[in-house]
Amino acid sequence: MSLFNRLLVTGLPLVPKPLVGRVASRYVAGESLADAVRVVRSLNEQGAMATVDVLGEEVSEREKALAAVEEYLRVFEAIDRERLDSNVSIKLTLLGLKIDEGFCRDNVERIVETAKRFNNFVRIDMEDHTTTDATLRIFHDLFPRYGNVGVVLQAYMRRTLRDIGEMPPGSSARICKGIYVEPRAVAWKGYDTVRAAYVHALEKLIVNGIYPGIATHDEYLTCRAVGLIEKHGLKRDQYEFQMLLGVDEELRRILIAGGHRLRVYVPYGGDWYPYSIRRLRENPEVARHVLRATLSGK
Ligand SMILES: Cc1cc2nc3c(=O)[nH]c(=O)nc-3n(C[C@H](O)[C@H](O)[C@H](O)COP(=O)(O)OP(=O)(O)OC[C@H]3O[C@@H](n4cnc5c(N)ncnc54)[C@H](O)[C@@H]3O)c2cc1C
Repeated sequence: MSLFNRLLVTGLPLVPKPLVGRVASRYVAGESLADAVRVVRSLNEQGAMATVDVLGEEVSEREKALAAVEEYLRVFEAIDRERLDSNVSIKLTLLGLKIDEGFCRDNVERIVETAKRFNNFVRIDMEDHTTTDATLRIFHDLFPRYGNVGVVLQAYMRRTLRDIGEMPPGSSARICKGIYVEPRAVAWKGYDTVRAAYVHALEKLIVNGIYPGIATHDEYLTCRAVGLIEKHGLKRDQYEFQMLLGVDEELRRILIAGGHRLRVYVPYGGDWYPYSIRRLRENPEVARHVLRATLSGK
């Protein structure tokens, strides 16, 4: 990333919110469930599966967490009614993890139970390192009882290989690099170091019989993943690639055309700001986008 882009990324919180919203709109389906349904339908038509995320995190009021649970129940109904190929992704701090772990676990259980009724699946996103233990506890509690819940592991976390060792065979893990700014004591640092950690983690998932959701837009890692899929003789239904809405649609098309299954993460809702800031921070062309929006004066 250029020095100018780096400066802009540091200054992103100073950029007016409406401007952030406009520049980041490609990463979010919209504010309503109808927006998410429209985007998922279009992705399905392009041969991609989806995972729907209700935006929101770090909730400190029980009512907000309970409202999020209700929203997820509406998502399952919509997926079923519209015959969409989509599961859901959830963030535990939206569902009350910072209020009380038991409260959060009950909320997640309601979502997983409902998913089961609809023959659907719930992916628990991984947030910053202060939530990793609780997230894995909730996953390990629910998986043996329901089966239709998976978790996310972050390649940059030094603990991840150990966490993979504790995953039940037949379960499912999305492997991603990790997006939160973590202290060096808990996370590998350095671009190539995290790539190496990703490859180690992905291979361990495969060898241990854990279904991998290979979440990356990094062409190098995609190439390494294709090599591992080949080396370990994985069939088409034994893994999937995953990408974020609004990122590298060309790579998405290439993977689908190559015969791989691919799922797109589709976030929607009113609470889009923190998610959008994280996406803009990763965008190598962020300066151009922000400048263009500023100059257009809208
Ligand atoms: C489906 C999915 C789910 C995820 N879930 C989690 C999670 O639960 N917890 C978590 O910590 N992280 C999650 N992440 C984020 C992940 O950890 C990385 O931060 C993110 O994917 C960027 O890493 P990368 O592997 O794509 O490599 P990078 O090196 O960051 O990106 C590779 C290339 O992709 C393109 N690119 C990447 N991001 C953008 C962007 N925002 N805008 C434009 N171009 C971009 C650029 O060309 C870049 O050079 C998820 C990612 C995906 C794809």
